[in-house]
Amino acid sequence: MFLDMNCYFASCEQQRHPELRGKPLGVLTYDSPNAAVIAASKEAKKFGIKSGMRLVECKMLCPQLITTVTHPGWYRQIHVDVMNILRSYCDDVIPKSIDEAVINFNSYRLVYNDLTELAKQIKADITRKYDYLTCSIGIAPNSFLAKVGTGLQKVDGLVVITPENIDAYLAKMKLTDLPGIASANERRLQMIGIRNPLEMRHASVVLLRKAFGGVVGNYWHSRLNFGEVDMYSKAENRTMSATRTLSRQQSQNRQVLESMLISLCTRLEQRMVKGELFCKEMFFAIRYKDGTSWDTAIKLAEPLQDAMEMISYIKERIHDFERTRKLDTIFTPLTTNITVGISSFMNGKVMQYSLFDNRIKKDTVRKVMYQIKDHFDQKNIVRKGCELFVPNVMKDAIGFGSVKDMLMKEGEVKNKFMLEEDAIPGQPKKIIFKRKAEPVQPKEEDVYYDVTPPDLPEGEEVIRDVW
Ligand SMILES: [Mg+2]
Repeated sequence: MFLDMNCYFASCEQQRHPELRGKPLGVLTYDSPNAAVIAASKEAKKFGIKSGMRLVECKMLCPQLITTVTHPGWYRQIHVDVMNILRSYCDDVIPKSIDEAVINFNSYRLVYNDLTELAKQIKADITRKYDYLTCSIGIAPNSFLAKVGTGLQKVDGLVVITPENIDAYLAKMKLTDLPGIASANERRLQMIGIRNPLEMRHASVVLLRKAFGGVVGNYWHSRLNFGEVDMYSKAENRTMSATRTLSRQQSQNRQVLESMLISLCTRLEQRMVKGELFCKEMFFAIRYKDGTSWDTAIKLAEPLQDAMEMISYIKERIHDFERTRKLDTIFTPLTTNITVGISSFMNGKVMQYSLFDNRIKKDTVRKVMYQIKDHFDQKNIVRKGCELFVPNVMKDAIGFGSVKDMLMKEGEVKNKFMLEEDAIPGQPKKIIFKRKAEPVQPKEEDVYYDVTPPDLPEGEEVIRDVW
């Protein structure tokens, strides 16, 4: 079963503000005419408004469009509640993004004999908790086709795809209606004579391998023929990325652009620290207003977790490029979008440290910093100095992928501060002391070596290293 919340951010806003219900609403990250609408309400979609459109364009389609800025903490709170509803029926719930999840009922065949009835019950549970929210649910023999099912009825949908009815559904679809098939893949398929999803399903493995250049072709064949390839993704193959769309005003100021870069790298750092991961590859991309872009991929000599190190690698690349092209800067006032991504992860527990560096200390400091944040349940209580040079530009971004790292197996929230809204500029939040720190009791088996030099000059302070 695949669950996809309808018009998620917009519906969340309408849930909290009944006065916005039934009205065309666009949700923006920044309140500026050049900002992009990241989510549109059902009512706004009727005017042709799609997520990603600039507000100016939206106003042309629908002058009465109402706008609001995002409230990520609220969206994450609802995400947690929806996931917990799903977990009350099945212990194998895999959140795929902030508004999507796969629920694997494979080991529940004897428990539920009618998944359609169960889907209706889940919908009712969600509506009981949040009366304005609806979702589309797809049921199929694999998670990919279940997701396809959620796309077939956009609002409050419930579609079951079976071996008997699949061809009828696919026959009505375009290739790009399939999740994961965008224009580039569509061209590849058309080149070998596949024109629609139905032809794709009945194409041979050999032909699909030719279209996708190898094993990816096998995956596609499997997806459309009831095999499972999407449910669990291995950590090593994962990519995490953070993107920021900029307002025109923000892109005018190089310092703001640089602080955005810091913000993006810090987000990724946070996610790596929480997941105890280090990355071995990273990429950086800038998009400009005229549709052009610049990107660079970096293979790292040593696995990395630190935001400031990420930034120094990116800056080095930017600097090299600017020097060889005799450019002033690649952060131009036409910048609309910056993205930092990381991949090829390794587990922090098995990290090999090289002999001659001080990484262990750095990694410990970073970990402690996040523990302090968690301890006070305040996400902004500790910030690196470098994050502060332009106040209030680093707005909380809604993590699409990061929700995967947010919930623990038992349904408890791991990063509670992700449920809080940013402090209002100029109004610092009150610090809430949640629990008393327990004094650390040295264990008996700990061995202490006193490293005080024997010939210490009088009056000198002694710094002891405890090993
Ligand atoms: Mg959705």
